[in-house]
Amino acid sequence: MPSSSPSVIVIGAGIIGAAAALALQSAGAQVRVVDAGGETATDASFGWINASFHHDAAHYRLRAEGIAAWRRLSAQMSLPLTWQGTLCWEETGAAFDAQREALQALGYAVQEVDRTEFSRLEPHIATPPARALHFTTEAAADSPHVARSLLAEAVKRGAQHLRGFRVEGFEQSADRITGLRTPVGTLHADHVLIAAGTGSEALMQMAGTPMPMLHRPALVVRTRPVRPVLAHILVSEFGELRQLADGSLLMPAAVNHQADASENVPDDPQATAAQVLTRLSSLLPDLALDWAELTLAHRPVPQDGLPVIGAVREGLYVATMHSGITLAAVAGEMVAQEMLRGVSNTTAALLEPYRPARL
Ligand SMILES: Cc1cc2nc3c(=O)[nH]c(=O)nc-3n(C[C@H](O)[C@H](O)[C@H](O)COP(=O)(O)OP(=O)(O)OC[C@H]3O[C@@H](n4cnc5c(N)ncnc54)[C@H](O)[C@@H]3O)c2cc1C
Repeated sequence: MPSSSPSVIVIGAGIIGAAAALALQSAGAQVRVVDAGGETATDASFGWINASFHHDAAHYRLRAEGIAAWRRLSAQMSLPLTWQGTLCWEETGAAFDAQREALQALGYAVQEVDRTEFSRLEPHIATPPARALHFTTEAAADSPHVARSLLAEAVKRGAQHLRGFRVEGFEQSADRITGLRTPVGTLHADHVLIAAGTGSEALMQMAGTPMPMLHRPALVVRTRPVRPVLAHILVSEFGELRQLADGSLLMPAAVNHQADASENVPDDPQATAAQVLTRLSSLLPDLALDWAELTLAHRPVPQDGLPVIGAVREGLYVATMHSGITLAAVAGEMVAQEMLRGVSNTTAALLEPYRPARL
């Protein structure tokens, strides 16, 4: 790598930091990824890549670009993504029609399927709905492995990974952030990216630019493996559900978990897992189900619920968001563009509502 390459330190090796590290390294930067280890949202995620859930038209556009960016990245390297599509029947009646019409008006790939077609697509569901929406371009990510693959590729291209290093402060010269402090020394770089998930709030505070975040804990149940029974991601009044490659079923404890605004999780983990199994059993009554893993995780949610992506001050950039599985590939592309080449028409148009200054 020529010494004129800009140096970048990425704080965080979750899916956002890993995607950004790969995009930055590929675009000519010399990247170091500094990560403390421990609980990550990426390891616990449900892994649904979609634009059907969104807050408004701008958020839809960003998420749709998120899907397109995963397609671009998948064309370059092998990633554990499954382009299986989603069947959604959480709304009924007029709300169902409104959801379909709103998504069609935005240009989303959505088809209505009737009960017969639903049963053809998902023959094991005991109570097929009268109608469902089929989001044909959505995918599921094995998010821990996607993040590891992205980081491994970045390292293969020359990036370096500092594992077990907690960032405890920043170095600055005049108004510019020039590096960071860890318990075992100081590192300097031309640019620093905060991509630390829930840890971003404390880091932004240390940098003198507070970015308040919400407390959003979540529980996710994974069953013991069963025979192949599901082909799609399913979204219904029973909750969100998908089957992993090893046969286990994954379901967040909260129904409609993407919009879940709870500040606490139920205080009886055993009862929560049992309730999830009851919901699963009513969908798939022929299976003998048992849960294998109950994970408590924390979603990185900025105060207004929307992503935060952009320059904070000279030398410092931030990328922190929920729906980071959907958005990691596009966030990586845009971080690399803006940090190394400057704001483009595309990044300005997509990111204008998500700049850190609004908080
Ligand atoms: C239960 C659950 C279900 C979800 N489902 C979906 C879904 O279906 N679809 C979707 O798109 N999104 C989903 N999300 C959200 C998504 O998982 C997150 O937005 C995404 O994983 C965030 O990735 P990240 O890299 O920002 O953070 P993380 O994966 O949390 O990684 C942050 C990293 O930063 C490191 N770090 C923190 N502080 C420091 C520090 N001071 N110094 C050094 N390192 C530090 C941590 O050690 C960690 O490794 C879900 C989240 C949860 C919890």
